[in-house]
Amino acid sequence: MGRPASHPIPMDVSARLARLRPLLSDAGVDALVVTSMANVRYLTGFTGSAGLVLVTASGALLTTDGRYQTQAREQLDAAGTADAVELVVGEGATQRDAVTAAVADASARRVGLEAESVTWGSQRRWANALGAVDTVPTVGLVEGLRQVKDAGELDRMARAASIADRALGEVLDLLSRHRTEHEIALALDSAMRRLGADDRAFETIVAAGPNSAKPHARPTARPLEAGDPVVIDFGATFDGYRSDMTRTFCVGGRPSAEIARIFDVVAGAQAAGVASVRAGVSTGAVDEVCRSHIAAAGLGGAFVHSTGHGVGLDIHEEPSVSPGATAILSPGIVVTVEPGVYLAGVGGVRIEDTVVVTEDGCRSLTGFTKESAA
Ligand code: ZN
Ligand code: ZN
Repeated sequence: MGRPASHPIPMDVSARLARLRPLLSDAGVDALVVTSMANVRYLTGFTGSAGLVLVTASGALLTTDGRYQTQAREQLDAAGTADAVELVVGEGATQRDAVTAAVADASARRVGLEAESVTWGSQRRWANALGAVDTVPTVGLVEGLRQVKDAGELDRMARAASIADRALGEVLDLLSRHRTEHEIALALDSAMRRLGADDRAFETIVAAGPNSAKPHARPTARPLEAGDPVVIDFGATFDGYRSDMTRTFCVGGRPSAEIARIFDVVAGAQAAGVASVRAGVSTGAVDEVCRSHIAAAGLGGAFVHSTGHGVGLDIHEEPSVSPGATAILSPGIVVTVEPGVYLAGVGGVRIEDTVVVTEDGCRSLTGFTKESAA
């Protein structure tokens, strides 16, 4: 019970700022204001809900408010970034003043703002505060680094996946006991917490019978019935890192002929997709492997979402595994492979693993059986 006794492999957080700096000049900026909290965590180790990091050519500054004074100091120390990151604690104006002073000290002329996380209002406040310094929208600088996980990150993701595997094993017998989708989701969430998760990785999906035909159904009060397909899509978070897995079961182990056929098609597509994941392959090619398998079975129109996505500190991150995607896989990149087929009024099947790209293929972090009987 509780967290695994062994400590996770340490992460080299302080090396990340050094990897980011060359990307600033490529993006045409002298400094970057990092406001995505997952990016702030990645670069500094700070996990609070408010704050930002200014990265210049030679320095870095973390600003946050008084609620996080002690926590921020402790987390910089623990992550080994205290020497590389100056900490400023105060209200919004204090934080902005510290940033503008550091921008001036660095003689920065163009400051990047993360376009995906800065609101219109926030951009205007920054433009005012920075005066003659240009603000420039940047996209994906830190996210690009985050795609490739180090050994410490992979260890955390493997632990999250293992917790999720064990939690599903604990609740599986509930499927044949006429419990509701909501009760099963709650049991899964609670098992993950008890087994050492910080939290669930996202809102757990338990979708049975007709609900299984909706890819992102929310759990309802409908009890499961014999013969129902049930799609369970869930994950755990361990020390900030998430897992993501989907399994489809048939309650009572007696699927209709139609569901049994869909299950075989999706299982075949998913296995082929995973087999195609290797360094040097584009994520669009992985998507195409799954999509063409399902299309060959005459079900192409029923695969209504992309094949997968990156996972890490966020449940959906780069790279996207979708039609036409051009990201090239390399060792350490973690993606999901999760084809599905959904037929309104009949039901749906989705099977998902989270896999890490290795030198000669990939390795699945999620390990629960894909047999459909439950
Ligand atoms: Zn999922
Ligand atoms: Zn997913």
